[in-house]
Amino acid sequence: MKIPSEIILVHSARLLDHDTGGGDHPETADRLRCIEQRLQSGSLAPHLHYVAPEPASHEALLVFHSESWLLRFEEEVLSGRSYIGHPDNQVCYDSFDVALLSAGTGIKGVDVVEQDAGRCVFCATRPPGHHAEPSMSYGFCFLNNCVIAARYWQNRYNRRRICVLDFDAHHGNGIQTAFEEDPETLYISIHEHPSFSYPGTGYAEETGMGPGEGTILNIPLTPGSSDQKVVAALDGVVREKLEQFRPEAMIIAAGFDGHRLDDMSGLNYSTGLYSIIGERIGSWAGELCSGRVVSLLEGGYHLQSLAESVEAYLIALRGK
Ligand SMILES: [Zn+2]
Repeated sequence: MKIPSEIILVHSARLLDHDTGGGDHPETADRLRCIEQRLQSGSLAPHLHYVAPEPASHEALLVFHSESWLLRFEEEVLSGRSYIGHPDNQVCYDSFDVALLSAGTGIKGVDVVEQDAGRCVFCATRPPGHHAEPSMSYGFCFLNNCVIAARYWQNRYNRRRICVLDFDAHHGNGIQTAFEEDPETLYISIHEHPSFSYPGTGYAEETGMGPGEGTILNIPLTPGSSDQKVVAALDGVVREKLEQFRPEAMIIAAGFDGHRLDDMSGLNYSTGLYSIIGERIGSWAGELCSGRVVSLLEGGYHLQSLAESVEAYLIALRGK
């Protein structure tokens, strides 16, 4: 039976087993531990409901990733390599299996929403995904969790028009790669300007190609940008684009590294901004796509700000 106010957390303790080598790597299991501690000690605690993901199937991954990349990723991990391609992409023996499970969180989230639209679903997952390209890891990402979930939504449930909204501080180059020629998907990203920030893509001029022209909306912000710029974009171009596109479902690439205390970007967001973002998304999903929305964790590396921002986001998202 539906409990309208519950929050579904798609999560597994197994996601903590992707070990990025200790040292000063920012993408650690402590990120998920801190989120969980915060949620369990706050006002949402009585409303949390945990759902376990299953590893994404080979078929679900091949909608975006190449067979050769999946083989290479698994082989390099099992051969004991400590990173793939670039030292950013640290791996351990368990990393391939954990990445499959991380990709599976979005798929599980889609299933939960399809069983009961309007549920507030958050995938508390890692490794993140939005930088992952079809045949390469980038920026701590190995498999593109949001793209895999979007394609699953289309293929399994025939929801054709999917919007991915990305508020991570960085541009989701991998999501753009997946969708830039596709007229059925819309990718909206608000991020620090690529001239100043990783990965160097996401200029406003990148708007999609061929049949996908107009289905990419990049909103780059100069370093130091604070809440007002984001709110103005949300209530202006983002809302307008969503109303024009009329998505049947939304996937949120929920990254919290634009927080002013997070040194992974030069953005200057407050914790309160994530509450506004959650409120807008909840409201749009209700109006435009019968509440069909799934959020997946991307970045966010200052542990306290990450945990507080996720909580603020979920309180607001659940409010609608
Ligand atoms: Zn990021």
